[in-house]
Amino acid sequence: MNKTQHHYTGSREIGEKCAIFGVYSTKKDSSAARLICTGLWALQHRGQEATGISVSDGNYIQTHKGPGLVAAVHTEESLDALTGHMGIGHNRYSTFGSPFSHFQPVHSEHNLVAVAHNGNLPVVDKLHEFLKQVGRKLDDQNDSELIQEAIEYYMLKGMSVEDSIEKTFPLFTGAFSLVILTKDKVIGVRDAFGIRPFSIGKLPDDGGYVISSETCGLDSVNAEYVRDVKPGEMVVLDSNGLHSHQITKNAVEKLDIFEFVYFARPDSFMYGKNINEIRREMGRQLAREQKIEADVVIPVPNSAIPAALGYAEESGIKFDHGLIKNSYIHRTFINPSHASRKKDVQLKLIPMREILKGKRVIVVDDSIVRGTTSKKLVTMIRKAGAREVHLLSASPKVKYPDFYGISTPTQQELIASHMTIEEICTYVGADTVQYLSYEGLITATGLPEEKFCTSCFTGNYPIDIGEEHRKHINFNV
Ligand code: AMP
Repeated sequence: MNKTQHHYTGSREIGEKCAIFGVYSTKKDSSAARLICTGLWALQHRGQEATGISVSDGNYIQTHKGPGLVAAVHTEESLDALTGHMGIGHNRYSTFGSPFSHFQPVHSEHNLVAVAHNGNLPVVDKLHEFLKQVGRKLDDQNDSELIQEAIEYYMLKGMSVEDSIEKTFPLFTGAFSLVILTKDKVIGVRDAFGIRPFSIGKLPDDGGYVISSETCGLDSVNAEYVRDVKPGEMVVLDSNGLHSHQITKNAVEKLDIFEFVYFARPDSFMYGKNINEIRREMGRQLAREQKIEADVVIPVPNSAIPAALGYAEESGIKFDHGLIKNSYIHRTFINPSHASRKKDVQLKLIPMREILKGKRVIVVDDSIVRGTTSKKLVTMIRKAGAREVHLLSASPKVKYPDFYGISTPTQQELIASHMTIEEICTYVGADTVQYLSYEGLITATGLPEEKFCTSCFTGNYPIDIGEEHRKHINFNV
């Protein structure tokens, strides 16, 4: 959902991990909007900037969307107004461009088709070319809006939504899990590499289905997990149940490994593996690789809690909560500039003096991106009286930007792309800094390396990122 043409410029907040959710209930009187709202709530961690829901009662698509958290945007009144037994929803996290535009789901005044997108198309040339050729005006559309326009173009020509999607699918170069709503269908589509997660569930006592970015969304509405949407597959939910169309035969599974490292909620499952368990194993693996004499292991809450627990388990060093998270700080009302990010950390994380005073502390984070958080944390932990601070990352060095829906900063801003471990250690002010090895990360997942997109660690981009992006990347770091 980026304005991709600007991907490599300027300083930006990391983020852009949207959520999508779709529901088709066979009960005409059920409220899809309420189910979607519950699902989006469970997926709030993937996007906090804006949210939206589109529903259909079989005749007409209605949408309510706006900036803010799910609980703030989707009020009792707005949910009551959204009548219909099928629909789609979206949570957005992108600090790129104005936070007050490009909300999803996207649809035009034709009221034919609404689209919500998780992922990013790093190359939109084919889409631009196509839309220009068919006389559409190229304005300020982002990738998700371009997708919607292309599908709608064929539908306006009288094609079915399924045919329109098949026809336009080759124009989409990048990562996309899509939920699509027409007046009588809900459709899920996943790119040929399955970069972003996408799962299908069955509604209880209904016969209808749910599709969700993560399995935690299915659980939130008591849906029973059926399977994942396959790479290159289109699943259609309608009054006849669920139908599958494999759009491309050239599909391979390459889920973004960063879902395991940071994004996904710990109770979710991907490739049949529980995220929390994998993170714990990353911690155990880190302890096998990096043996450090210390008194206490503390996590950077919340994402690094499982990894720190795993490290403590394997090393035998005591685990404690040396940092407490203030859960009431949301990115939504925090200015995303670099300077304010430093303050964010102070507001968000509170050191526990009694746990840290006089101790040799191991602090485990899930990842080190710019190093801004680490620097602030190390200072904070020392100020609280720690004798030694050892910073451990439960994932390898992040050296390459992501182009598939996680908006990391430019490569220059990724600390590990231009600093050695010693330099990083000096920069953050720690006694030692260590990372989980790349091999260790793969081992911890219990899955073969080929199953993953590992671009942020390796620079191996499975989908073309385009010349414009490529020329700003140093592949030899
Ligand atoms: P940094 O300060 O840039 O090094 O950010 C590292 C911190 O951000 C770690 O505590 C991670 O848990 C967290 N993090 C990693 N990736 C992302 C992301 N894409 N969006 C938001 N936070 C992230």
